[in-house]
Amino acid sequence: MLRIEPVRRHMATFNSCGICGQSGETSDHLFHQCHMAMAIWSSLIKTEKLAVFFTRNFRDWMQINIASPGFYAREEGDWDLLFGSIIWLIWKTRNRRLFDPDYFEHESVLEKSRRLTLEATRALDSALSKFQPSHRSSTMSDIWHPPPHNWCKVNTDGSRNVGNGLATCGGAIRSSNGGWMFGFSKVIGVCSIVEAELWGIHEGLSHSWNLGERQIIVEAYSLEVVRMLKVNSKRGSIFTLLDRVFELINRDWNIILRHISRTTNKVADRLAKIAIIRGEVHKVFSVPPKEVVELVQQEAADCILTAEA
Ligand SMILES: [Zn+2]
Repeated sequence: MLRIEPVRRHMATFNSCGICGQSGETSDHLFHQCHMAMAIWSSLIKTEKLAVFFTRNFRDWMQINIASPGFYAREEGDWDLLFGSIIWLIWKTRNRRLFDPDYFEHESVLEKSRRLTLEATRALDSALSKFQPSHRSSTMSDIWHPPPHNWCKVNTDGSRNVGNGLATCGGAIRSSNGGWMFGFSKVIGVCSIVEAELWGIHEGLSHSWNLGERQIIVEAYSLEVVRMLKVNSKRGSIFTLLDRVFELINRDWNIILRHISRTTNKVADRLAKIAIIRGEVHKVFSVPPKEVVELVQQEAADCILTAEA
């Protein structure tokens, strides 16, 4: 696609960079090493990672940026979208400069990429919120319901500190009478909120399996994660983690996965924050910890009342 290709196919007689004019316009040069690309990346990459960022071979460089958003980028949130937008807009700019003599740049590639990323994020949020109300009206309620007889229910949640990026997850496993079976709270490290939510499901499923439970309803607040697991889609840095969750889901047991409202998932939400508040990496609870004990009792009582009503 780059001009080295047309030259090979005798479609063009030149192969210098469409941006800087240097000879040999490879993908590595245009998107990675050309002065325009380098100026953009330099403003976005962690200072201590700059040297390795610019010397990686092109293939690894692309893969790391897409699969591990927090590895090079200062702001890892939506890095996959921003990275893709920059690549796309460098390519577009290069083409405009080459083929449109009247082309005038009103906005830098970086400004345009940020705008494109914001638009993509908004479109994604709006698509998700459109999906949410109809889903809510049909299957969601604001009251936690216990699982049917012989089933257990795992409520999980992920949490991420915006300031330092540190993510945690937590969850509770309860029986058909709303009784506490097991709980956990775990510090994961620096990762995205989607990964934190997935870790919550991973941990919830692992603990349920180890408890010998074989009929599980998993409830999580993140619609994105629930949909990801239902449609088997893969995104960004979570290939390996997703594979691990799929491995758990595909074991010989019955799993039902549901998205629920934040208010219904309060116990898991609080559990996700306990490890970090208590300064511990991994906590498990055979009885409800004090942070959730009242709420667990309340939810168990509510479900008895609801059943009797
Ligand atoms: Zn160049």
